[in-house]
Parts: sequence; C-alpha cells; structure tokens
Amino acid sequence: MSDTSASSLAPRLLIVGPQGSGKGTQGARIAELFGIPAISTGDVFRAHVRDQTELGAQVKSVIDAGDLVSDELTFALLRDRLSQGDTGTGFLLDGFPRNLAQLGLLDSFLAPRDEPLTAVIALDVPREVSISRLSERARIEGRADDTDEAIAKRLEIYERDTAPILEVYRDHGIVCAVDGVGELDAVTDRIVRALGERGITV
Ligand code: ADP
Repeated sequence: MSDTSASSLAPRLLIVGPQGSGKGTQGARIAELFGIPAISTGDVFRAHVRDQTELGAQVKSVIDAGDLVSDELTFALLRDRLSQGDTGTGFLLDGFPRNLAQLGLLDSFLAPRDEPLTAVIALDVPREVSISRLSERARIEGRADDTDEAIAKRLEIYERDTAPILEVYRDHGIVCAVDGVGELDAVTDRIVRALGERGITV
C-alpha cells in the first residue's frame, strides 16, 4: 500500500558538517527552497543568550567555551520546537543530533510518529578551509565562540562525537555527501541535485 499522506512526503532533513562548512547558511537556503522551517539549535541558544533569558544565562559560558550544552536540555528544546505545527510539511535540522546519544533521543521522538529523517546532507570541507572560514567569520561577526581556543575545541568535538553519527545514517542509506567547497550558489545547487537523486524535490 502506498502512503501518499503529506507527512510521508514531507522532507525531514538534517545537515551535518564541521564548523565553518557553511551548514548554517546552506541549511537556511535549502529550508527556504523547500518551504520548511530550518531548526538550528545553535541559533535557538544564541537567541536566548541575546535576549538574556534564564536559559540563556544557563548556557552562555558553556557555549562561549566551545563546549556542548547537555543532551537533555538541548533535546527538550528541540522536542518543543518539533512539536510546533509548522513542522508538518517537513523540517531541516542543523546542529542536532551532534552525538550518538542525541541521535538516540531524536529517534525515540520520530520513530513512534513514523516520521524518520528522509535524508542527511553531509557537507564535506577540508579542515584548512573550515579553519580559514571560521577565522574570517570571527573577524566579521565576532561570535563569542569563534576564539582560536573555542574553535579548536568545537572541531575536536565534531571529529570525535559528531562524525560518528554519519556512520549510523550511512547504514540507513540516507546520507547525501556533498562537496562544500565553492561558491554558495554552486554548493546549494549540488545539495538540491543530490536530494533530487533521492526523489526529494522542491
Ligand atoms: P557550530 O556548528 O559552529 O559549533 P552551532 O551554531 O551549531 O555552531 O552551535 C553553537 C553552540 O551551541 C555549540 O558549540 C554548543 O555549545 C551549542 N549547541 C548547539 N547544538 C547543540 C547540541 N545539539 N547539543 C549540545 N550543544 C549544542
């Protein structure tokens, strides 16, 4: 029996890549093209810090040091966001899951709803490119966690804890690997093409 309900066709995407890979920028573009919300846990945390909420005060020093916020706190926030009505047509996650424990938490939320991720965009960029983009961003935006020390820590956490989640999704056969080096538009086109090859179209 073929299931053609809106939720089965809805793109449920995750974008993964090292810091400086452009995943935030590309994630926002892809979400816009597909008309789905981009959900970035980093953006949610930064908004709380900016607005000086209680949660913001709780996470500021952790984020500024380049460490991860606790899995439980981050997942509680994500679960609330995913429960909002606008995710019915799909969503694009950026920044969650970031380790195997978070992958399990996300799965425990999506599996009972029968709404697994449909594709994982893995943005590949060599380490030198990541680092040079991050130092450029530090110069322009002055993000508090773009100090040399915090960048090194975040890249180390990425290699150790985040990269392994791609192995799991590769086993599920849902990873689209995309070369993240090049003009913004060229990279966006590559992602759209890679998703199209899996039948995920705008
Ligand atoms: P980047 O990928 O450049 O490190 P993000 O914007 O994705 O930046 O995240 C910024 C910070 O927010 C992280 O370093 C971390 O402190 C916190 N954060 C974001 N997502 C998560 C998550 N899934 N689990 C724990 N902490 C997170």
